[in-house]
Amino acid sequence: VKLARFGESGSEGARAWPGLIDLAGRMHSLAGVVDDLRGKTLSPAALARISELAVESLPMVDTETSLSAPIGGIGKIIGVGLNYRDHAQECGLALPQEPTLFLKATSALAGPNDPLVMPRGARAVDWEVELAVVIGTPGLYIDENQAMDHVAGYCVGIDFSERDFQFHRGGQGFKGKSADSFAPLGPWLVTRDEVSDPHNLTLQLSVNGATRQHGSTKDMIFSVPQLVAYISHFMSLQAGDVILTGTPAGVGMGQSPKKYLSAGDEVTATIDGLGTQTHRVVASS
Ligand code: ZN
Repeated sequence: VKLARFGESGSEGARAWPGLIDLAGRMHSLAGVVDDLRGKTLSPAALARISELAVESLPMVDTETSLSAPIGGIGKIIGVGLNYRDHAQECGLALPQEPTLFLKATSALAGPNDPLVMPRGARAVDWEVELAVVIGTPGLYIDENQAMDHVAGYCVGIDFSERDFQFHRGGQGFKGKSADSFAPLGPWLVTRDEVSDPHNLTLQLSVNGATRQHGSTKDMIFSVPQLVAYISHFMSLQAGDVILTGTPAGVGMGQSPKKYLSAGDEVTATIDGLGTQTHRVVASS
């Protein structure tokens, strides 16, 4: 099924209600059925119960209602660096021997149509469309063969990055990855059973209508089960944790000359079967 959260747009902590998207693309409210799409509601048993509901009996939600990130209670956002060969090449960096991991602050979370807010002093805000993997079943030291059992589903993610903060301000890339609105997720959580092959999905991102990224998850260096297993050997994975699995070529810093976002730009990101996000870029507050 496709699940979404509606209500106030914006970050973690914004008031949001759970919803279900029917086959015709209409949203129905799950308020009163589940508290929220978070924690134990993301377990296989709970998702199976939701998928068995009689959709017609659920109240419809006004399509004008804004969408939040499709899950709540996100404890950590784990980014995977350089997970596509063509992106490593455009960055002029060697292919990683092991997955490269970094964190994004959860305060960077945003809804699928929220504005992208330029942080103060930003000069090089860049885009990275990514397959976002949502953990449903907690685990530690997960075996690669069982790793997919821990995945609740997928959504579109964009790993917005301020390259100057990321590379030239000392310390880790964390600074450049974590500004408010830099981690939009959505528009829906598509449960794992609806995605027959997560390693054969087209990812696309355009800026003001011009295609910048056009890749396929089949070019990932480390697969979804490899990443889930690998990460779980360093830390437990919890229900609601999100893994951003890396981006294909076509980011702004890979263009010649480099291209970055400005206020007024519009960024659109789509992954096959997972939907589309659109973000208007706005100046810092
Ligand atoms: Zn990334």
